[in-house]
Amino acid sequence: METRKQELAERLEQVKDDLAEAAKKAGRKPEDVTLVAVSKLHAAPDIAALAEAGQLDFGENYVQEALGKQEELGGLGVRWHFIGGLQSNKAKFVAGNFELVHSVDSLKLAKKLAGKAVERGTVQKVLVQASLAGEAQKSGVEEDALAELVEQAAGLDGLSVQGLMTMPPFFDDPEGARPYFARLRELREALRQRLGLELPHLSMGMTGDFVTAVEEGATLVRIGTRIFGARPPR
Ligand SMILES: *Cc1c(COP(=O)(O)O)cnc(C)c1O
Repeated sequence: METRKQELAERLEQVKDDLAEAAKKAGRKPEDVTLVAVSKLHAAPDIAALAEAGQLDFGENYVQEALGKQEELGGLGVRWHFIGGLQSNKAKFVAGNFELVHSVDSLKLAKKLAGKAVERGTVQKVLVQASLAGEAQKSGVEEDALAELVEQAAGLDGLSVQGLMTMPPFFDDPEGARPYFARLRELREALRQRLGLELPHLSMGMTGDFVTAVEEGATLVRIGTRIFGARPPR
């Protein structure tokens, strides 16, 4: 019988193969796309098994759950990404404890993260999350306020703005997400020109649409279900 560990290692290899193929087809280098395995609600031993199989970037959505796993899995060399909605009153638990925060969507949150990072003698790398679907999306900053937030966040000591993140509305057909991914890339280009920032990262693409996201320039894809299987209820 196949063990859970073997199952996870096999699923990981399949996803990595698909990612590499998508990158090559798009004329990109596979190593330019980082796989973030989204481990929210999945157990720590699953993460340990994947780490043993070479997967070191993991994405978490809930602060307490993530910190618990960090404590339990210290020493495995895992790079933790915070990808969920973050209330600014919880920023103090996040700053300095995650490799990259993908979900900065307000100046208030940016300032809290920056202040804590300075206090802890570190620089917190962040992405600004853009909401490109108007009413349909709760999280993320609206497109017309994006440039201002990126500029202000980039001006804060203790913060390093590395790029943009988005989460399109759900589509059965991944082609439905393409315009959102393309738009995020265009916005990044415009911000580069306007603000003179490097903004190397675009975090976009999940289980259902990561191939499309890679074609549109994703440098970080956030994949959960395809690796772990269905998530247990919260
Ligand atoms: C849960 C989650 C994912 C992973 O979604 P899957 O469809 O399971 O791959 C990616 N990004 C964010 C922000 C998430 O909350």
